[in-house]
Amino acid sequence: MTGVFDPEELSRCISCGFCLPACPTYAATGDEASSPRGRINLMRALETGRLDADDPTLLEQSSACLGCRACEPVCPAGVPYGSLLEQWREHQWRGKHRPPLARLLTMVVSLPPVVRAMGWGRFVLPSGRGPDKATRPAPTGTPKPPTQPGPPEPPAGTGASLMLGCFERAMFPGVSRAARTLLPGLKVPDDQGCCGALHAHNGELTKGRALARRLGERLPGRIVTTSGGCAAHLADVIGRDRVAELSEVVDVSALPERRVAGRRVRVTLQDSCHLRNGLGVWREPREALSAVADFVETPGASDCCGAAGTYSLLRPIESRRILDRKLDAIEASGADVVVAVNPGCLRQLRTGLRRRKSRVRAVHLAEFLTTPHGGARTP
Ligand code: SF4
Ligand code: SF4
Repeated sequence: MTGVFDPEELSRCISCGFCLPACPTYAATGDEASSPRGRINLMRALETGRLDADDPTLLEQSSACLGCRACEPVCPAGVPYGSLLEQWREHQWRGKHRPPLARLLTMVVSLPPVVRAMGWGRFVLPSGRGPDKATRPAPTGTPKPPTQPGPPEPPAGTGASLMLGCFERAMFPGVSRAARTLLPGLKVPDDQGCCGALHAHNGELTKGRALARRLGERLPGRIVTTSGGCAAHLADVIGRDRVAELSEVVDVSALPERRVAGRRVRVTLQDSCHLRNGLGVWREPREALSAVADFVETPGASDCCGAAGTYSLLRPIESRRILDRKLDAIEASGADVVVAVNPGCLRQLRTGLRRRKSRVRAVHLAEFLTTPHGGARTP
């Protein structure tokens, strides 16, 4: 035994195969090694020393897994696959096996001054442009129409705070602004640092956990997030009771409906894998959207969009293949807007929709709820 994995977690898999149909990489390849069960068998081979870390199948499969955790909710044995994957990558991606891009990104988000300066990213990265003008909240001081009620009370009394995600802060600053408009009572400390989700998912599990604990100490009270990946990681480390995703706490009952061209906006949702499969949050964003617009469900909304943290950068061809299928389904739904609840998904969807010059807009939930037409393309 090499001690790479938590033995109790690794032993839980009973090899029943119930997870296979849920796995996108197995669906794409039909290869057992690319399935959750196959990957767990590879982990066991690593753990018992039957394969060593240089084995090409181990290297390939630790990287080819999306980390979407779609295998978790369908597993009758409750195998915590996401946790095993983090342990696997921490061992597998050591030294020369660590993808240089993953190394660079985790280094950058650990440096608060660099993160603060990263606003440039949204101007130079093709998919990282700031929010469309259409989704910018009204400037402070703009008179509200008579039907616009006051903002809802902040969640959890006065002690709650808003988490500003590293990438969201740099690439989609309008999301945090919109969240503050929706929940003005939230405290927003400046010097937040990183929650460590990117580290944990990319082979630096120990550091990722330490960063989450530090953020938990810096932010007072209940922590409201606007990023599914950060929410799941933070909840895993500091406790679910300290973490709430925006859709769980926002009160939409007083918000006016989103309208475009004289009708309610048609909106669909792209689930965040970690939010849905890790935290079990999927109903809440749908309820929020249904309250203010015409919600349409897109088949496969819970399937990964191919962003998957650094996956779209490390494996762009596979990522684009996954995304193209997703965008076909979104366009076929007839929606004006697809809402994302994670910055990585938002970036991925915007990139794809712009590339195909689609009439569908990709908007974050916070922006959708603070823009009169929800960010939909106006005629
Ligand atoms: S991970 Fe769960 S569903 Fe998949 S083979 Fe193991 S026990 Fe069965
Ligand atoms: S995390 Fe996603 S891609 Fe990886 S094994 Fe599970 S379902 Fe398949």
